[in-house]
Amino acid sequence: MTGTQVGQVSADLPRSRQVSENQCHMCMPIGAVAVFKGIENAMVLVHGSQGCSTYMRLANVEHYNEPVDIASSSLNEKQAIYGGEANLRKAMDNVIRVYQPVVLGILTTCLSETMGEDLERIVSSYVQENGITHISIIPINTPSYSGSQSEGFWAATRGVIAYCARPTLPHQRINVIVPHISPADIREIKRILDYAGLSYTLIPDYSMTLDRPYEGRYLKIAPGGTSVNEIAEMPGSPVTIQFGSTCPNSLSPGLFLKEKFGVPLINLPLPIGLKNTDLFVEAITKISGQPVPDALTLERGWLLDGMADSHKFNAEGRPVIYGEPELVYAFATLCAENGAAPVVIASGTTNSLIATCLAPLIETADEPPVILEGADIAAIEEAALKTGSNIAIGHSGGKSLTERHDIPLVRIGFPIHDRTGGQRILSAGYRGTLAFLDRFTNTLLETKYATYRQKIKEEYCNTEGI
Ligand code: SF4
Repeated sequence: MTGTQVGQVSADLPRSRQVSENQCHMCMPIGAVAVFKGIENAMVLVHGSQGCSTYMRLANVEHYNEPVDIASSSLNEKQAIYGGEANLRKAMDNVIRVYQPVVLGILTTCLSETMGEDLERIVSSYVQENGITHISIIPINTPSYSGSQSEGFWAATRGVIAYCARPTLPHQRINVIVPHISPADIREIKRILDYAGLSYTLIPDYSMTLDRPYEGRYLKIAPGGTSVNEIAEMPGSPVTIQFGSTCPNSLSPGLFLKEKFGVPLINLPLPIGLKNTDLFVEAITKISGQPVPDALTLERGWLLDGMADSHKFNAEGRPVIYGEPELVYAFATLCAENGAAPVVIASGTTNSLIATCLAPLIETADEPPVILEGADIAAIEEAALKTGSNIAIGHSGGKSLTERHDIPLVRIGFPIHDRTGGQRILSAGYRGTLAFLDRFTNTLLETKYATYRQKIKEEYCNTEGI
């Protein structure tokens, strides 16, 4: 295995199947749902069958452990033949009556896209005929057969900004655009921005809507999220920081703001890992003109201390890293800077810049990793076995790596459906990086102490039991 192939699966891996086997990614509208949950007073409606919205609700509820309402236009066989416009209109009537949202996101599905539903036309004629001026109804095309949740997330973030943004007088609030990360990571990024004394518009902000303190009552729309007024004013911002180094240009919200409104764009990797967090802190201190806050200097020092403590164990790690491109890239660089060189780096997404981003890491690696794009979990398992991986980093979809092959899994990303607390997994910033690093190193140590007696026996004792 040469180890640098980019494609569905490395060329010398046996390709015994012609279909996807245990997908590594989730469906495109799921990513878009998270975006609308991060907009203030927003509700989301999926134009498709009830099964689509049920699947999306289930995946989100299991991960975030919160009520996640997603409406459906309930298409069935009849609408598949005669069209779903009447259903969608009725669904919009019902959602507006019951939820009274300020923003209503309408997402397509495999079915409505295949039917050729003209979402833009249906929504604009519905708005005109009903004289709707107080609700932003935002249609987003999310054909799941042509994209993953990652692309759905970027498409919806860009779509919301494109719909709401207006030419605005210059102001001092910077734009911050985040990818599909945990609510805990969003809170950490906001905490770092607050330390730097910057005012900002962060989108999408589901840090409070998808991870709420206990209140003992159900809320139709949870408070929190980015306000439409702030989104409208994003064009007046002095700069956009986007954590989207792997985001393709065609989906990039930050690039849209730059090209349409001239807002300068600083496109960074996620602040996960020492170097990546340094890049973020350097950017915000440059913008603020202030020195690095003492609290962040301390946290960086603790991270360095932790890296020194754990590096002697990490060198034994041969991680397979998989999931959404932005997370995968951040964790690959984190592992590399901690001496655990990744052996497989994989994503279920095909449309990303991950291979370009990873080029420097591959060039300098003693043993170049296998890179898989558009991969399913079966292909990742094959690559992990061939490369002798001994630890995995990714979402719950790859739990078969542990169940079938005894490769322990450090869970990050979406979805986490077989453990509790997916919404609280913290990996961003110096604090988050250190928390992850401890989990990673301790997972290696756990395997080591559980298996070393057996390994010694296998290595030094002969078959007569000596
Ligand atoms: S949009 Fe497509 S992939 Fe997603 S749940 Fe519906 S049918 Fe399945």
